[in-house]
Amino acid sequence: MSDEYKPLRPQAGPIKELFAPVAGFGVTLSSMFRPTVTEQYPRQKVPPQKRYHGRHQLNRYADGLEKCIGCELCAWACPADAIYVEGADNSALPENADRVVTADDSGGAHMSPGERYGAVYQINYLRCIFCGLCIEACPTRALTMTNEYELAGPTRAGLIYEKQDLLAPLGEGMLAAPHPMVEGTTDTDYYRGDVTGPTPVQVSWVAEHRPDDPTLPAAEKVATTGRPRSAGRGTATRPAGVRA
Ligand code: SF4
Ligand code: SF4
Repeated sequence: MSDEYKPLRPQAGPIKELFAPVAGFGVTLSSMFRPTVTEQYPRQKVPPQKRYHGRHQLNRYADGLEKCIGCELCAWACPADAIYVEGADNSALPENADRVVTADDSGGAHMSPGERYGAVYQINYLRCIFCGLCIEACPTRALTMTNEYELAGPTRAGLIYEKQDLLAPLGEGMLAAPHPMVEGTTDTDYYRGDVTGPTPVQVSWVAEHRPDDPTLPAAEKVATTGRPRSAGRGTATRPAGVRA
């Protein structure tokens, strides 16, 4: 067997050898005439992809009640121990001093449908790794993630978001909680998406207990004129505010 070295690649010719030391500049020169792709953040904010995992949000039902029932499943699912939840009974609300709110009780004041609601809710964004396991664990779809990614601050304490920082704003026509559930419904009707907005009974209750509530005028309009309803589940005898 011969010991002579035989390169596998063909040898460069004399001209290629001559320009070899400056060949890399060709890449630089050709790139100078391509369109710029650098994002001019923060002057220009490019929207992330729709499924981007950003800041969390605690959602509401169409009548304004909160979806969070304080079950703590999100906190147990979190691998970074970033979530702290304290649930409380709707019965403990001051408006319910003379009654006990049960799972199928649509009367009395509620922060969320059923017996319980999330009284304390914190997410520590110094710990969160935006994995999304918490939103998968949530049984009521109360917790979702928005596309908001600007989560920085000058203090550590400021990066612990409280319930009021995470709660979705009241949409047009929603009635601020607490207030009774839509009459004749159970929490199951809410979970199934059958509640489509506040009813006149709910509006009257809030008008009696909080006459200065700023959400009353818009909610009253929705309660009397109704929102467009989609066909589907439920019966025609259901009260206003429930999908017919
Ligand atoms: S996204 Fe992940 S790390 Fe962040 S709070 Fe949810 S489960 Fe915890
Ligand atoms: S956000 Fe969902 S999982 Fe977490 S406490 Fe509320 S209802 Fe339970």
